[in-house]
Amino acid sequence: MLDLAALRTYLIIKTLFGYLMLSYVLPLAIALILIAYLAGKPYWREHQRNKIKAEPFKKEWRKILQQRMPYFRQMPADLQLQLKGHIQVFLAEKDFVGCNGMVINDEIRVTVAAQACLLLLNRPTNYYPKLRTILVYPSAFIKRQSKVTGGIAHSQQVTLAGESWDFGKVVLSWQDTVEGADIPDDGRNVVIHEFAHQLDQETGRANGAPILAKGQNYQAWSKAFLAQFQQLQQQAINGTPSLFDYYGATEPAEFFAVASEVFFEKPQDFWAKHPKLYKQLKQFYHVDPVHWA
Ligand SMILES: [Zn+2]
Repeated sequence: MLDLAALRTYLIIKTLFGYLMLSYVLPLAIALILIAYLAGKPYWREHQRNKIKAEPFKKEWRKILQQRMPYFRQMPADLQLQLKGHIQVFLAEKDFVGCNGMVINDEIRVTVAAQACLLLLNRPTNYYPKLRTILVYPSAFIKRQSKVTGGIAHSQQVTLAGESWDFGKVVLSWQDTVEGADIPDDGRNVVIHEFAHQLDQETGRANGAPILAKGQNYQAWSKAFLAQFQQLQQQAINGTPSLFDYYGATEPAEFFAVASEVFFEKPQDFWAKHPKLYKQLKQFYHVDPVHWA
């Protein structure tokens, strides 16, 4: 005979259990799993990156570095080793896409990665966390840009060697990338320029005030930067020669990128002419290229 009382009790317990599961236990379990995932993610990523760095650096990649990156030979041995590790991680995490018929190969990937990773030496880094893809054109590329003058919007064509977006992309001209790397002391390097923008963009829109190193303060940074930025603006108006490309006078973000190019490519001149700004960049980049011989 069916025991109705027992059945009723069973149904009540079952409903209550289902209610508790749905209302408390399940959300709590999901929250705990999510917390564990978020807390563990940086450690897991660090572990993966260390594994990648521990792999032997490919012979072919070393050849590319020697051919395409004159800085590499000048750098101290410990920095060379560090750079190779960064290149391995960078190439494992970032995608390269060829544009206008450009076919991506290791020569392109290693040459770009090596120069981009120069900016990450000696510091805790998350490898340009916003960046996902590097688009490579064979040479300078044309872009339509809108500009407002006198309240009227215009659309104009501009030719660019590189571009850095704050939502996951860097665009580069391969011809300019090769020239920038081949001539290590002309103060021009499109990869350094665009990846300096990436560092600047870690805090939002590029504005010449990236996240500074420990011990640096924004007051000293902006004082040193503003003095040189204003001087460059004046030099650009007067046509007076400057260590910095006049393009740096267009806005603080461009000045930071242009100054970064000169810091790595003409450190002796930079240090001799503008020691206060050089000191700020030396602290920011955690390297002193003056001593790279
Ligand atoms: Zn720029």
